[in-house]
Amino acid sequence: MGGDRAAQARAEIADLLARHGSSPRRSLGQNFLADPNITERIVRTAGVGPGDRVVEIGAGTGTLTAALADAGAHVVAFELDERLRPVLEEVLAGRDDVEVRFADAAKVDLGGVLEGGSWKLVANLPYNVGTGIVLDVLRHVPQVDEMVVMVQREVADRLLAGPGSKDYGLPSVVVGLHGDARLEFTVPPQVFLPQPKVESAVVRIRRRPAPPRSEEAIALAAAAFGQRRKMLRRSLAGVLEDPEAALTAAGIDPTARPEDVPPEGWLALAAAAERAS
Ligand code: SAM
Repeated sequence: MGGDRAAQARAEIADLLARHGSSPRRSLGQNFLADPNITERIVRTAGVGPGDRVVEIGAGTGTLTAALADAGAHVVAFELDERLRPVLEEVLAGRDDVEVRFADAAKVDLGGVLEGGSWKLVANLPYNVGTGIVLDVLRHVPQVDEMVVMVQREVADRLLAGPGSKDYGLPSVVVGLHGDARLEFTVPPQVFLPQPKVESAVVRIRRRPAPPRSEEAIALAAAAFGQRRKMLRRSLAGVLEDPEAALTAAGIDPTARPEDVPPEGWLALAAAAERAS
């Protein structure tokens, strides 16, 4: 039964694209979700209901956009590819609860565009800009208080990693400082048209109020992860006046490497650097 629905959805998307003379572009990360069971599961996971405001990045052929609107949400969806305009006009015809904006979501000031109150980000993110958008929204778009996003599995691993793991890096620090994140479920390549090479995963991040000095902590982590193999006392030499003293004051071993420092450690280091200045 689930397989029949998926086969039908796949045929419908192929037909829709063909009728509008369009074909998926790999360079834009166009792997369209072609299984209604997964689409519905994403909407359920996001807990989207009437009255919710949702921003979607990468409307594609409008599958998730329509499902979010069907759940009762007001949806603002960004799409970079103008060639999908007629496709989206057909799929979303007659819906006044959906606004599609043709723009590069990586360049749009989402914080300025989304009017006050709270929003959810729900999206099957384009792989090339996905991580950047998640981190940018966490850092600079406070009105998005929750996100449920599909990304490549390896991106999910990096967003969710804890200190000491090979996947732990700047993305994990930003997520750890701004929210509570969890892996909701994984998604096999077969449910997309065309099929990507790798597994995907749906991640949920709930925002927590940003701790003081989170931007300073992120700047320090960025400098250190930029030279990941080096000891912190060396990688932070150009950034802190006396890295050894600041690291010690923050309770961090100056010979440690950035992957050893948890998000709170970067905050403690930012506080120590501030006290020393
Ligand atoms: N939501 C659709 C779905 O689930 O089938 C499409 C998802 S597809 C993985 C990603 C979509 O993001 C594509 O339609 C692509 O054209 C669009 N896209 C790529 N880069 C973008 C950007 N910088 N801003 C907005 N949309 C972008």
